[in-house]
Amino acid sequence: MNDNLTSQIRKLIYNNETAELPDDLLLPVYELSGAPLLELFSLSLELKEKYTGKKINFCSIVSAKTGICSEDCAFCGQSAVAGKKEKKIKVNPLMSAAEIVEAAKIAKNNGANEFSIVTSGTSVNDEKELNVIAEAIRTIKSEVGIVPCASLGLMKYDQLLFLKNSGLEIFHHNIETNGEYFPNICSTHSFEDNLATVRAAKKAGLKVCSGVIIGMGESKLDRIKMAKEIKRLGVDNIPVNFLNPIKGTPLENNEPLTPMECLKTLAIFRLVNPAKNILAQGGREYNLRQLQPLALMAGANGMLLGNYLLTSGRNPDLDFELINDLGFEPNEINRSNQYT
Ligand code: SF4
Repeated sequence: MNDNLTSQIRKLIYNNETAELPDDLLLPVYELSGAPLLELFSLSLELKEKYTGKKINFCSIVSAKTGICSEDCAFCGQSAVAGKKEKKIKVNPLMSAAEIVEAAKIAKNNGANEFSIVTSGTSVNDEKELNVIAEAIRTIKSEVGIVPCASLGLMKYDQLLFLKNSGLEIFHHNIETNGEYFPNICSTHSFEDNLATVRAAKKAGLKVCSGVIIGMGESKLDRIKMAKEIKRLGVDNIPVNFLNPIKGTPLENNEPLTPMECLKTLAIFRLVNPAKNILAQGGREYNLRQLQPLALMAGANGMLLGNYLLTSGRNPDLDFELINDLGFEPNEINRSNQYT
């Protein structure tokens, strides 16, 4: 069965990016090893290059508002639950527009082509805060020259339209996990709330970045269902995050992922969403370890550059070296490339 798994998948999707891959064809991907696994990676790499070429997207984020949130997302170091156990997360109110713009300039100098303004909390409903974010977006768009993105929690259509009209290009909101598994991860808002925010952003005319976190105790079938839910939503960018357990959160002692599980999940996301941007995002250093370069051979065409919200990323120079060594190119490089 394993011998011809890749060719069965290839027949279904190679010339039809909208084809549905059955779960019983995707689940055995997790059992592959050796040459059959390389065949599978070869297909996911081919699909990536067919639809997205050799360019690699780099996005960067700024934690523009940090602190204890009233939601109870089990993976998050800023959640109400984590906050009770460990009060170590610094609480910072929303940065000024000038501070956010400064962070965007640093991201651009590091070589990122997209820059996301991220806030903790259920949503940004305060009009003054929304105005500060809109002002920062206007300046980033007109003066910095990096694609502005925002990740502000659960937002409504009118708010998103206001940000779109201020120059926002991409809105980020993860579905986090499979809908059936979501109640194990969060009880203070619903999976449907996440879907509603994604749909509102699309309706407002924004590009949408929406992905998942794997390693939160979900099954392999859950991961396949997540990839398919994302396909139904029809988003543009799909970040696949790998849980880096934060001390004090309910998931702090979760069974770690293996690097191969991470790579196979990236490949499955590419097979299910062949023409989209698949990003190897948070937790890649911790979970992929020495196999980080293989993320880009398994189907990812983007990565987060620099630091995460609460944990450190690696030196951007190493990521530019990595993609150059693999023969890929950064998307719209914004700095001198010292590796060519
Ligand atoms: S809503 Fe955001 S900041 Fe609040 S707990 Fe969930 S992930 Fe963390």
